[in-house]
Amino acid sequence: MNVRAVGHTGSVMASHPGSDVLIAGGGVAALEGLLALRAQAGQAAVITLLAAESDFVLRASAVVEPFSRGHARRVPLREIVEDHGAHLEVGVLAAVEPERHLAMTADGRELHYDRLLVALGALQADPFPGATVFRASDGDPAFLEVLAQAVAGEHGALAFVVPPGASWALPLYELALLTSMHLAEHGAPPVELSVVTPEKHPLEIFGRRAADEVERLLEQAQISLRTLSRARALEGGRLSLEGGGAVHADRAVSLPTLVGPKLPGLPADGLGFIPVDEHGRVAGLADVFAAGDCTSFPVKQGGIAAQQADAAAAAIAASLGLLTDPPPFRPVLRGLLLTGSSPRYFRAEPGAGREPASVAIDAPAPDARFSGEGISTRSALWWPPSKVAGSHLGFWLGRPRGTGDGELEDRFVRGDDAAADAEWQAALELALLMAENEARFGDWTAALRALDSAQALTGALPAEWAQRRDLWEAELAGTPRSDLAG
Ligand SMILES: Cc1cc2nc3c(=O)[nH]c(=O)nc-3n(C[C@H](O)[C@H](O)[C@H](O)COP(=O)(O)OP(=O)(O)OC[C@H]3O[C@@H](n4cnc5c(N)ncnc54)[C@H](O)[C@@H]3O)c2cc1C
Repeated sequence: MNVRAVGHTGSVMASHPGSDVLIAGGGVAALEGLLALRAQAGQAAVITLLAAESDFVLRASAVVEPFSRGHARRVPLREIVEDHGAHLEVGVLAAVEPERHLAMTADGRELHYDRLLVALGALQADPFPGATVFRASDGDPAFLEVLAQAVAGEHGALAFVVPPGASWALPLYELALLTSMHLAEHGAPPVELSVVTPEKHPLEIFGRRAADEVERLLEQAQISLRTLSRARALEGGRLSLEGGGAVHADRAVSLPTLVGPKLPGLPADGLGFIPVDEHGRVAGLADVFAAGDCTSFPVKQGGIAAQQADAAAAAIAASLGLLTDPPPFRPVLRGLLLTGSSPRYFRAEPGAGREPASVAIDAPAPDARFSGEGISTRSALWWPPSKVAGSHLGFWLGRPRGTGDGELEDRFVRGDDAAADAEWQAALELALLMAENEARFGDWTAALRALDSAQALTGALPAEWAQRRDLWEAELAGTPRSDLAG
């Protein structure tokens, strides 16, 4: 074990003096922090990851599950942690004692650290009474039931509601668009679909171009849009709105409102989020850093969480004397919207009017746009085009099987959407054809690699290919599944 266990009967291993880094969490920010720190500090830092679960689950990809277009990506933490010369402790961080440099776990362990990176994510709260909350976990049975009932003609109207408070709105639009396609594919009786959002324009945080594009996509899918509206409650086929008014809806699908972890020993704002500066340093604490959804930065997005982790990792490396001038957190928002056909890529940078040095602490209003125009395109704006655009983690998740580490790269935008669509379709067909050819000869590794390429192009595989992936993965593992064959 790298981190010295204090008051615990386990073995204590010697570590490089003063360089024990404990990363608490097992999500996007924690893993990006691990990869970034390893890239910047080499072997000089002794890194331990303390995570509540033993797997990393890419919740951003969970929206495809109800539509049989694949699964949320799941990676055993041990794999990524050991790959990067770190140590995994499975346990729940319950409190921190910064003066003693101790992290306490719920089962009574006390872990010493020289630097601590807190990346616990946020807690989920119900957004409003009556909501069907899509939690991106455990297969979301409540949403699956709504979908099945809609296919069976039991609902005349479904509303997709961007929740009030802290959350990430993009998956709500994905759920609405994918539901529209799913109902059409399954020959469902007509269902009135609507999106209800407090935003002035859909996904306006990405700028005007993205908002225009999302409006167009909703219109094409015959989904009505109600902006500047906050839901109060769903009752008796009626979604009531704050300030009066209502929307007809038998079910209202929404996302959880996020609240901070309020960890004993660390400062918290009114909602329990941890205040940090632009290097991710927790307010008032020299050796404690935080990144991701658990911090007070108002945009709760994986790409942003990763950028915060990069800044924190650089600051930690600098504090250990391994780096000079660590770059601060300067958010760039990258979003990949699944539409059921070619995905859309959005990118936006903070507006020019804001004081750059105050980005992390003096956070912008939650509805602030990152830029006036932004970029919206069908061509991948970064490569590999991972759903969570974290510099190191995005690369690691999107890299072809069997290759090593690297960093995600931004790409130049191509203006011609029709040409981009045609190229995208051709590349997708080629990747799927290659996958099929490899599978025909029983080369499951090569077949899966080709499917990875196809998925990189689409964000989510078409349903029948998602099923083939399950089949081929089972073949590769030596446990063929007759239930999926044919
Ligand atoms: C449906 C959905 C779709 C999304 N789509 C996108 C998208 O397309 N792109 C994008 O960039 N973002 C997307 N997001 C947002 C993104 O998932 C989050 O912003 C991101 O996961 C935040 O990363 P994090 O590391 O801060 O927290 P999390 O990913 O939530 O990770 C927190 C980790 O800490 C662990 N943990 C919690 N408490 C403790 C504890 N006390 N001790 C030890 N470990 C603990 C948890 O088990 C978990 O592993 C989506 C979110 C949802 C719900």
